Amino acid sequence: METVHRCAAAGSVDCVAKLRYNGGGINVKTCICDKCGKEIEIDVQEEVIDRDKDGKEISEQFFVCPECGQRYTVFICDQFMRQKIAARKRLERMPMNYDPKLDTALVKEMQKHFKRLKKRYDRS
Ligand SMILES: [Zn+2]
Repeated sequence: METVHRCAAAGSVDCVAKLRYNGGGINVKTCICDKCGKEIEIDVQEEVIDRDKDGKEISEQFFVCPECGQRYTVFICDQFMRQKIAARKRLERMPMNYDPKLDTALVKEMQKHFKRLKKRYDRS
């Protein structure tokens, strides 16, 4: 089975989570490049792009369109993001106390922070 979705979804934290957790599996994720319109395979790479004031790594997950070279930033992970991811994992581990509102709030915070990071590092 093949999943085709537009690159615009790459900005969504949930999409990233799926990419990551299915990573290494049999599913090859593809999407349509916004720039050249070609269907491309998503091959997410990770690169440390900066360090915060405490010296902690800030890494970017991205993929590059093999046709036109357009770089798509999937996710930028810093301490803030790591904390939120950990908080979501804690929620997942407690299905009895699982609060979808709290989870949604966490995702929203991450999306907001992702926008700030993209701006700071001049990513589209
Ligand atoms: Zn392209």
